[in-house]
Amino acid sequence: MEQIADVVSCNPDYPPEVLVYTPATSWDGVVRTVERARVAAREWWHSGATHRAAALHAAAERVEEARDILIDLISREVGKPSAEARGEVARAVAILRYYAQQPYDPIGAVHEPAQGRGMLLTRRSPHGVAGLITPWNFPLAIPVWKAAPALAAGNAVVLKPAPPATACALELAPLLAEVLPEGLFTVVPGHAETGAALVESADVVSFTGSTAVGRAVVQAATASGTPVQAEMGGQNAAIVMPDAEIDETATQIAGAIAGYAGQKCTATKRVIVVGDPAPLRGALVEALKSIEVGPPAAAGTVCGPVISAQARAAVLESVAGARVLAGGFELGSRQGWYIAPTLVDELDDGHPLLRNEIFGPVAALVAVPDLDSALAAANGVVQGLVSSVHTSSLGTALRCADELDTGLIKVNAPTTGVDFHVPFGGEKESSHGSREQGKAGMDFFTRTRTITLRQSTAV
Ligand code: NAD
Repeated sequence: MEQIADVVSCNPDYPPEVLVYTPATSWDGVVRTVERARVAAREWWHSGATHRAAALHAAAERVEEARDILIDLISREVGKPSAEARGEVARAVAILRYYAQQPYDPIGAVHEPAQGRGMLLTRRSPHGVAGLITPWNFPLAIPVWKAAPALAAGNAVVLKPAPPATACALELAPLLAEVLPEGLFTVVPGHAETGAALVESADVVSFTGSTAVGRAVVQAATASGTPVQAEMGGQNAAIVMPDAEIDETATQIAGAIAGYAGQKCTATKRVIVVGDPAPLRGALVEALKSIEVGPPAAAGTVCGPVISAQARAAVLESVAGARVLAGGFELGSRQGWYIAPTLVDELDDGHPLLRNEIFGPVAALVAVPDLDSALAAANGVVQGLVSSVHTSSLGTALRCADELDTGLIKVNAPTTGVDFHVPFGGEKESSHGSREQGKAGMDFFTRTRTITLRQSTAV
């Protein structure tokens, strides 16, 4: 029998600390879990709106009660600064409460038949088993923002977390198991093979992660006719106009580059300055140097370690050939995988830092003469997740809202930070399929059936 690698996750601030060491779920194990979930899903759907709403409210309570344990675990397992980990837990609770309301919403419409008497109904019903494949960087919020709408709509959930975030998923599972029927929410730890097994056996697939893996997941799901959505990587630009308020803009952009060590899909990776770059460049270098780098648990830390030694090496390699304005070195005084917040400029057009997402606290500054060139530069990548524009002109803001090719556009606000109750997702290679969150989340986890009712001639 083929040996499957165990799942191990460790603390990026203190790598000798192992958070979890668990066997990966085999292909057959995933298939059996999905079959069990399919049985649980049928009963769950027919249990009624009140039952599902109450269970999701109870789930929110359990997560809230476990808040301190979860904050500590998120912080230790993925190196998220504890202030952000606190925000992530609060977000998960809010998402569960938001979707707890949704089972009471209308699930269809009534139409007149084209001819004769009777009614035409549309009704949204669940797919069955939702297979969720998640990244490590939001180890609680992303599993919950997929699971909550899936459950609210009447599906069962099987979650395959990213290996570096497995302990968080395994902490969430028993909290939900306390309030949900058996088999309705199951975690299958594992690597690519476990994920592939889930894609093949689930009835609907929701993926978040890197673009390369997302494309493979979309291809596999599509080949077997399974509905799939994928949210993937970004290469997000902040456009800074000459009329922007410089200090405020520099502070916002520095936070979006280096907060949580730049490991958000929405982190700023390119700063496109229109006109003379000197004032913004100076302010941004100062703002980055004043970012608090330190252990995730310490109050005030904004930038913790990156997730692995490989991730740190990738950041350091990415700045080759550029002029380094800030950072560009590892913080060897710490045992964990730390890098100083980094800003570079004078890059060739084709430089990888301007094209590929580097998941760490690093960004490139690009100077352009006017707004036309700024829009062309911002849109000149294959990704299209989020962009920001910093300006005091309403006209510029409106033009950017029209012309930026990204799923989210922020005006005088950092690229990072999203609201949980509105649709979220990117364009171009950052996204595939329908949006997540808000009502869009419920749409994805249901399918529409059209029901024709004719009056019997016996009546
Ligand atoms: P990743 O693509 O390496 O892994 C994501 C998940 O896919 C993991 O659970 C992984 O085990 C699984 N997987 C790997 N190979 C698979 C396969 N062949 N079949 C099925 N599943 C497979 O991503 P990551 O390193 O965990 O996360 C970082 C990435 O996620 C970044 O690119 C970031 O931008 C992206 N991300 C995007 C969003 C968004 O909403 N757009 C949000 C957070 C993170």
